Amino acid sequence: HPRTATLRARAEIDLAALRANVRTLRARASGAALMAVVKSDAYGHGAVPCARAAVAAGATWLGTATPEEALALRAAGIGPPVRILCWLWTPGGPWREAVEADLDVSVSALWALAEVREAARAAGRPARVQLKADTGLGRNGCQPADWPELVGEALRAEAEGLIRITGLWSHFACADEPGHPSIAAQLDCFRTVVADAEAAGVRPEVRHIANSPATLTLPESHFDLVRTGIAVYGVSPSPELGTPADFGLRPVMTLSAALALVKHLPGGHGVSYGHHFVTAGETTVGLVPVGYADGIPRHASGTGPVLVGGKWRTVAGRIAMDQFVVDLGGDLPEAGAEAVLFGPGDRGEPTAEDWAQAAGTIAYEIVTRIGKRVPRVYV
Ligand code: PLP
Repeated sequence: HPRTATLRARAEIDLAALRANVRTLRARASGAALMAVVKSDAYGHGAVPCARAAVAAGATWLGTATPEEALALRAAGIGPPVRILCWLWTPGGPWREAVEADLDVSVSALWALAEVREAARAAGRPARVQLKADTGLGRNGCQPADWPELVGEALRAEAEGLIRITGLWSHFACADEPGHPSIAAQLDCFRTVVADAEAAGVRPEVRHIANSPATLTLPESHFDLVRTGIAVYGVSPSPELGTPADFGLRPVMTLSAALALVKHLPGGHGVSYGHHFVTAGETTVGLVPVGYADGIPRHASGTGPVLVGGKWRTVAGRIAMDQFVVDLGGDLPEAGAEAVLFGPGDRGEPTAEDWAQAAGTIAYEIVTRIGKRVPRVYV
């Protein structure tokens, strides 16, 4: 048994890999600037360390969903000239704090423009505003039919010195499906709304629409800035596009745990809640001390892969809140032995993509949901 205390579980975050990914993405971005999207605690990797590493590797922009996430980056000392755009606003949001923290705020509707104007008046300085168009995603963003009115109102606020229109932007629906007809349609629409806004007098610092898949596969979408999230963390946006290695990217997170118990079970023995797994014959099992409360998807019960002692093992029975069992097939590692759930894959371990397939989801969800109870260890 190990004499030193072993961490129950850890998510090792390879910041050198993250920096290399940022450099690789910058090289693919046709000269555009790079925004590292660090929302949702940097997709589960830790917002502040990842933001700092991305900036060190040449990201000049950071992106978050909520204003609170963006304000936390500023509070951690990530100040201008690093630009931070936050795009998910609700009425009554912290507009004034955002203006004072020199954030770029996204505006898709007149109500938001009215609130940011008031905040700028109260703060006594202009707000940096990026106008978002819905070019076909059907989610956030201003519909093209309403765009001229939003642009007109924004230009009036700019003329009053209350805002500066720093960006025009949009987001793709199907960039991870090369050749999908919506891609060309969205690009056409984006060019049109940008041209219309510029004809009306908008002089944006940045125009942008590309997420990771578009950055990797669609140079004509790069404009002035690319907004890369998942690729920064070395995960491919979709298995159909290719593996991380195909794009020169390296997965940043390795999730491992120390076996809490190893024991023999006789044949015919049910394992875990509901007894959905029954041992075929006498075997050994290992207890992996992480569960769905740690973000291990319960849908991977019976399918999730784990590397123990150089071999892939499979989750036996249901994943519980804090633990699950793997069938070790007669092998007898010691308690404390390392169980690697996923990592870059080059030590033979599964990847986040393997877990996504086992759980019927996407790798974004696998890394993002790893819970707070799992310490992030930066290497
Ligand atoms: N831009 C916006 C508006 C987003 O919501 C996201 C994430 O979903 C991204 C960019 C980054 O996307 P990806 O992780 O595919 O690069």
